[in-house]
Amino acid sequence: MTLMVLPWMTDLQSQVLSLCHEKQLPHAICLQGGAGLGKQHQLMCLAAAFFCQQLSAGVACGACQHCQLLSLNEHPDFMQIQPQVKGKKIGIDQIREITEFAVGTAYFAQARLILIQPLEQMTRAASNALLKLLEEPPPQVYFLLATTRASRLMPTIRSRVQFYTVIPPSTALFFQWAQALSTDLTQDIARQAYTLSYAGPFLALGFIWRHFNCDQTLKQAPFFKPLELKSIDLLAEFNRFEDYMSQPSAQTAVHLKLLTKAISIPQSLLFFDLWFAGQITSVSTAPEARRVQFWQSYCQLQDLNDALIRSPQLNDAYLQRTIVRIIMPLISESLAS
Ligand SMILES: [Zn+2]
Repeated sequence: MTLMVLPWMTDLQSQVLSLCHEKQLPHAICLQGGAGLGKQHQLMCLAAAFFCQQLSAGVACGACQHCQLLSLNEHPDFMQIQPQVKGKKIGIDQIREITEFAVGTAYFAQARLILIQPLEQMTRAASNALLKLLEEPPPQVYFLLATTRASRLMPTIRSRVQFYTVIPPSTALFFQWAQALSTDLTQDIARQAYTLSYAGPFLALGFIWRHFNCDQTLKQAPFFKPLELKSIDLLAEFNRFEDYMSQPSAQTAVHLKLLTKAISIPQSLLFFDLWFAGQITSVSTAPEARRVQFWQSYCQLQDLNDALIRSPQLNDAYLQRTIVRIIMPLISESLAS
């Protein structure tokens, strides 16, 4: 089965392959970018292109012996490491396995590849063990890595890795891609899902899959791996969030805290953004005090958004508390009135 390069990754694919061709490939490359961009899929495309014996225009053939072994996850020169249980850490034992694998000689390819993701999920001990490997990489061993939070990696690891930032596709490109997999998908649905997924194409497909009855074609798409789907249903979370905000109760602060924990902070901020946008019309005719409070909260949230962009390493617990502190005056006011 051919592993299709995602349309927003084609430049990245040819960039890395030309380094490979010129024998300039760094020992460790790391894709960084938000959730649901298909980073793991892209690393598999690179691995396949690296091993394939009949590469055509940067795409692996899917038919040669190397491609077949890779698709069965049985290629002897390839190793993939991810948390053993979804959402848990990558432990030291897993990195030790790599060490054993990396010191052996390549079985029948010219080099060995090790894929690790998500890199920020390593324990401290695992990070230190990986650092040792990166400091003195065994000959003919290459690391293919991916992370959603590069800022959480040890600086010593960061300095030994060549980063590539994955830019999400435009809404138009996302629609084109998603529509090819599902002809009954409308532009409106695609846009809504894409916004709610915070420009994560695979997450957006997950919403479409669950909510809009376009699932059959998508399930058959060769590169659509259910693995990529997050267990959190963002659209349902957004509906719940709107309910909290429209019918505030004494429990709302608790609900909001749980929500920001369940989804990521940038996604929570997007929820609030969408909610504010939906309130502007009704607020414009509200009493003065309400309007002042509304726009104050809005500006504070924008400030928080900017702060997060400037310093992505801001502590999640701090951000959760701040969001709730900004939003609560709006809620308590409607409780009082
Ligand atoms: Zn091949």
